[in-house]
Amino acid sequence: MPLMRKDGDGNILLSDLAYSPEMPKENERLQMTRAWARALVVPEHFDAGGTSKVAGLNEIDLIITVDAADQVSGVLTVGDLMQFVGKDGVPSVDRDKFAIIRGRRPKLHWCEEGKHDTTEDPCSQHPPK
Ligand SMILES: [Zn+2]
Repeated sequence: MPLMRKDGDGNILLSDLAYSPEMPKENERLQMTRAWARALVVPEHFDAGGTSKVAGLNEIDLIITVDAADQVSGVLTVGDLMQFVGKDGVPSVDRDKFAIIRGRRPKLHWCEEGKHDTTEDPCSQHPPK
C-alpha cells in the first residue's frame, strides 16, 4: 500500500486522512454528529485541500466523510486537516506528518446536550448548566 494515494490531479483525498470508526458506538455517535452545525459532511473522495478551505470559512470542527452509499466512513478533525494542508489550502507533502495523522483516532468528546461529537471539552455551544 503506497504511503500517499492521490487522485488524477495529484490531490490528497479525505479518505487517506480520516479515521474509520471501528466500534459500533463510534459509528452511532458520528451518525448523530452529522446533524451538528459544526460538522461538515463530505464524500470521502473529496480532496483535502479544497475541503480545508470550506471548513476554514465555516467554523467547522469535524469533517465527517461518507461513502458512495451515504454511510459514515470516517472522521477527521479540522485541526488535523489544517496541520496537514496548511491554512492556505495548499497540501504540504510532509510525509512524517501524513504518517502521524493518517487514519488516527481523534480525541472526541460526546456532547450529551447537543447529541454530537466534538473536539471541545466541554462543548462551547452547549456548556454544562
Ligand atoms: Zn454541543
